[in-house]
Amino acid sequence: MQGVAILGSTGSIGTTALRVLARHRDRFAVRAVTAHANAALLAKQVGEWAPSYVALVEGDAETPAAWRRGSASLVEAATLPSVDVVLNAIVGAAGLDATLAALGAGKRVALANKESLVVGGALVDAAATRGGGTVVPVDSEHSAILQCLHGRGASDIRRLVITASGGPFREWPADRVRSATVQDALNHPTWSMGRKITVDSATLANKALEVIEAHFLFGVGYDQIEVVVHPQSIVHSMVEFRDGSVLAQLGVPSMELPILYALSHPERLEDAGIPVFDPVAAGRLTFEPVRHDAFPCLGLGVAAGRAGGAAPAVFNGANEQAVALFLDGRIPFGGIATGIEQALDRHAGLAGGDLESLWHADAAARRSVRETFGC
Ligand code: NAD
Ligand code: MG
Repeated sequence: MQGVAILGSTGSIGTTALRVLARHRDRFAVRAVTAHANAALLAKQVGEWAPSYVALVEGDAETPAAWRRGSASLVEAATLPSVDVVLNAIVGAAGLDATLAALGAGKRVALANKESLVVGGALVDAAATRGGGTVVPVDSEHSAILQCLHGRGASDIRRLVITASGGPFREWPADRVRSATVQDALNHPTWSMGRKITVDSATLANKALEVIEAHFLFGVGYDQIEVVVHPQSIVHSMVEFRDGSVLAQLGVPSMELPILYALSHPERLEDAGIPVFDPVAAGRLTFEPVRHDAFPCLGLGVAAGRAGGAAPAVFNGANEQAVALFLDGRIPFGGIATGIEQALDRHAGLAGGDLESLWHADAAARRSVRETFGC
């Protein structure tokens, strides 16, 4: 029996993971669940799964006495001796400490929290080496790449091709994109996800995060990672090997399979609940280039990845702050790219060698975005 901790159990990935785990109770036991503020859903999950460890980060006097509170609980949950696999489904840089702690304690980290790798990729690698932990991606593109690689390493890879749905504004003129509303941005054509990543998918900042994520997960250079728009979200990504052969992984847009695979890798488990792929029903599969004029966040993020140091942390912090302001109705959609660009202009050169300097860069980036918009 494998013990599982689900960090962010009340979110889109967290609830999907529990749905998958409900079909595999013979193999996995949920030993810990954590949430940010949704006490009602957390209580329901505790009733169903009876985990021995429960934490509500923003808990208050009304929180059940047996539950832990505060952000230190994430690290506690991630390092419990009874836990073998940590599913990190927290949104944002807030997930980094738990990823580092879990890897340092030798756990398998099923990583949905891509921001961990973007902010602290080198530290994540070092924690895994030191503690003996492993990272298995949950992100569908990276799960696809892992499945296509099938044990082959970086030296066999000529190129990774990461697919992007293109989001709700794929065909909009650039000036219309800049003034898109919150409602427009939350209307994703193919995937149902949390609000932050849904906005990231509309700006294509999500693809920049994923390019950086792929760089650290698979040890390939930025010149070897390409993004292509694929509106149907059926081909989840491709690997071109050094002999020119290209392998792709296909399936309907659902996170159930990537979550299951992150738990079972390298094994494959029988699961009749995974949505069935029908190529005839899928029909035409199309590919097109990214329109960088309408979606500047992708280029900004990849440039930050190439720059290295604290630049990816600045990109991520600025993006998180700008997306929060956009969702609050305080800045226009186009302001997300403006806020990120200015933060990178001011702070991309900050040092990023240790955790403290990365948190400093993260805070500077968030402050920069607030200053840009007088918020
Ligand atoms: P979500 O907003 O639906 O859920 C986030 C979860 O994290 C919630 O349980 C919330 O309680 C918790 N949380 C939020 N802020 C926190 C904080 N400061 N401290 C502790 N816990 C906190 O988000 P989601 O869509 O499930 O995405 C989670 C992660 O997975 C993100 O990194 C996202 O990029 C990644 N991801 C999501 C999908 C998807 O389909 N939703 C696909 C690929 C990758
Ligand atoms: Mg993805």
